[in-house]
Amino acid sequence: MTTISTNTPTEALDRGFPACGWDEASADPYDALLARLKREHVPFTVLWELTHKCNLHCVMCYNMPQPEPELTTEECFDVLDQLAEAGTLRLTLTGGEILTRRDFFAIAQRARALGFALDLKTNGTLITPAVADRIAALAPVQVDISLLGATLETSDAVMGAKNTLPRILRGIELLQERRVRVKLNSLLIDLNINERQQMLDMVLALGVYYEQVFKVSPTDNGGNGAAGHQLSREQMTEVLIADRTPFTPRSPGADSRTCSVGLSSCLISPYGVVYPCIELRIPAGRLVGEGRQRFAEIWAEAPIFRELRERHTWGNLPECRACPISAYCEGRCAGLAWKESGDPYAGHLLACQHAQARYAQQHPGAAIPETPVQVRVRQGSVEAKMPAVQPIRLIPTWETHERG
Ligand code: SF4
Ligand code: SF4
Repeated sequence: MTTISTNTPTEALDRGFPACGWDEASADPYDALLARLKREHVPFTVLWELTHKCNLHCVMCYNMPQPEPELTTEECFDVLDQLAEAGTLRLTLTGGEILTRRDFFAIAQRARALGFALDLKTNGTLITPAVADRIAALAPVQVDISLLGATLETSDAVMGAKNTLPRILRGIELLQERRVRVKLNSLLIDLNINERQQMLDMVLALGVYYEQVFKVSPTDNGGNGAAGHQLSREQMTEVLIADRTPFTPRSPGADSRTCSVGLSSCLISPYGVVYPCIELRIPAGRLVGEGRQRFAEIWAEAPIFRELRERHTWGNLPECRACPISAYCEGRCAGLAWKESGDPYAGHLLACQHAQARYAQQHPGAAIPETPVQVRVRQGSVEAKMPAVQPIRLIPTWETHERG
């Protein structure tokens, strides 16, 4: 994971491609606790997409609204009770846009009453003084807001709506006035890369936490219509060089993990389906409807969770293990690999490009090695480079919905 721990908001800048990793050797007590919870498979962190409805139309949105109904208020209350019983503490409510749900505050208040530490993710355009009051009353750990341009034109072009930037800045101001901790997130893409420094200047003036990332996710069903907005390897290199981001090459052991998928966190969709994480949309089970199960049962018994816990280690990633620049790879993601090739144990091109950009930053002028993934793709043969082990049976989201 490349997230930087800092003491002041203005220092909290990370540019890169964070995978959802862990650091068991960390001296930070919270990180050490997280490492233990991962080892013991406690579902400590849950990311919950409360809705796929949104008032914006961002060019890189990966949500795929389904025809089936989203969870009702009562069903959400039941899910909260189940999460509390299962040992979840940190709950992130996201969308879509959470504030488009009329019952959002009823759900969030219930979550706080049950003792969850709340993180909220919003696009920030619907925050009025009254909404800011209600958010502040929830005492969330943090509110995450997207900043996708430093000018009105760019922000509107990326977010697919009018007047987005002034509304976002007003929302931030209203939250800051109420002493709510705000973190801004900028996905750097072709449309806003020229305003990268302006966005940083804006953030420094605001004094909020901040992160810039490169990852354009394919949609939930694996479609990749936004791929054309992804920065090129050369653009990523330029950013890393310009910002002089610190980096230490690493040599993972066979038992280490590129991320913590399946260990202590998961995703719940607006339709009550549990998945390993936001990218790896292999259904683990349903909390509502036909075939419904208790959350604790899904968490403990679902084949995909058991599989990931047992097998998702560096030693079982044949392409990555053989990769000449694995020490520079920060963003290898099982979910993106699955979306790209159908195999969560493969490497994937975006992480390879990012690793090459990092290599170029660290070795100016040196030839950049090709990765096994790139060789496989260039040769047009997945099988030629794939592991001898039997891949797991993958059930894509859209198949499940068709069957359901
Ligand atoms: S093959 Fe790609 S994803 Fe795997 S370690 Fe190398 S750079 Fe990372
Ligand atoms: S597989 Fe999931 S947990 Fe792992 S890096 Fe990807 S998004 Fe993060």
